[in-house]
Amino acid sequence: MQVNDVKVLGVIGAGQMGHGIACVAALSGLTVILNDISMEYVNKGIQGIDAVLTRNVDKGKLTNEEKSTVLHRIKPCTALNDLADADFIVEAASENPQIKYKLFSDLDVLCPSHAILATNTSSIPIGRIASVTKRADKVIGMHFMNPVPVMKLVEVIRGLATSDETFDVTWNLSIKFGKTPALANDYPGFIANRILMPMINEAIYSLYEGVGTRESIDTVMKLGMNHPMGPLALADLIGLDTCLAIMETLYEGFKDTKYRPCPLLRRYVEAGWLGCKTKKGFYDYT
Ligand code: NAD
Repeated sequence: MQVNDVKVLGVIGAGQMGHGIACVAALSGLTVILNDISMEYVNKGIQGIDAVLTRNVDKGKLTNEEKSTVLHRIKPCTALNDLADADFIVEAASENPQIKYKLFSDLDVLCPSHAILATNTSSIPIGRIASVTKRADKVIGMHFMNPVPVMKLVEVIRGLATSDETFDVTWNLSIKFGKTPALANDYPGFIANRILMPMINEAIYSLYEGVGTRESIDTVMKLGMNHPMGPLALADLIGLDTCLAIMETLYEGFKDTKYRPCPLLRRYVEAGWLGCKTKKGFYDYT
């Protein structure tokens, strides 16, 4: 298979990443099947896509007619069976290994034999996800950054068994979506979160230990290090549940205490304070 053979793309999970991935795929001309566990979540994702496209219209990058053509390329669904026609899947469901293993084992049975099964996981080993399928050569990491329509990078992660063909199609699909791919190998956190997440965790420790207020921690990193966002605001944007899940994977994967998740992060997640998506995290978004 080559990148131009990918006509129908399935996206699983219509949350902040899934709807962004569906949006860039539809903008590139592909038919997109967007799946989530309930119509409420799928519709919320489609509203998010509508908002991105409206901003493009306002900026003169898209006409209203083009916007409606792009929206028509997106087919909402809640049944996994509706992905049976997809040539390429990007799984962007919640960062929970058990959810992903179940999805990949089901997708392996119902998707056509040529279909590539990619995951947008932030940290779960690609090899472990591939091992629940009978097509480990067609399983790969395709790690988009948040917000997907804006961020240029796609980290492409090869599992041990990923074939050259799967890698080439995924690499070229990232370029077709207007992104710049970078190759990472399959170690915990890959490149992006191996480096980013311990910094965010350390910022949370700084808050926990009273080294600084949330505002001073974020100001130091923004003005002192020229980061566009402070690490606590960024953690809220990523989702504190996702940050905790990534730290758990790093800690589990390396068995090194330098990756232990900050207890304050765990407390926030236990309280349901997940950041922007629940309107409460290190900052208040109500
Ligand atoms: P999110 O919570 O916004 O969305 C996850 C969606 O998955 C939800 O709508 C949920 O209903 C859906 N879902 C859960 N189980 C499902 C199932 N069995 N079938 C279909 N849909 C299901 O999370 P997100 O931030 O979009 O993260 C999704 C994935 O992307 C995770 O693997 C995460 O690690 C990864 N990721 C996140 C970021 C980020 O900044 N948030 C960046 C890169 C990668």
